[in-house]
This record gives sequence, C-alpha cells and structure tokens, in this order.
Amino acid sequence: MNSVAQSAHYPVTCPACNTINAKRAAELLQNKSLNCRKCEHTIAMNENQLNSLRRTLADMANYLREGQTPATHTD
Ligand SMILES: [Zn+2]
Repeated sequence: MNSVAQSAHYPVTCPACNTINAKRAAELLQNKSLNCRKCEHTIAMNENQLNSLRRTLADMANYLREGQTPATHTD
C-alpha cells in the first residue's frame, strides 16, 4: 500500500468529549484504538470505522498515484 497514504493523519472524534483527534492511518489500522488527547478516553475503532478508513486509504493511494503523472500547465 502507498506509504504516503498510510502516514496521512485520519480524524477520529472522541465519543466522550467530541474532541477531534488526528492519528496516523497506519497506526489506527494496527492498534484499532487511540487515546483522546483531551480527556484520555480510549476510543476503540469499530469495524465500520476501520472499513471506512481502509476505503479512504485505498482512495487516497489511487489519487496519489494519479497525481504522480506530470501535469501539463498551459497558462
Ligand atoms: Zn475525549
């Protein structure tokens, strides 16, 4: 999988205090949980969230691959 996409930060909202936490996508997929930076609540990623994260990563990898094609600027 694309390493740039895996190192992208993915936002996860804390269900306890609604703080948005950003965590590296690769770490989220590996740990399946994170600690809220504000209230230290352990946020467990459910299967739906993990699936959505995997989809986002796949989309991002596709986008980045397409982005590697040199763009032609005419202006
Ligand atoms: Zn929190």
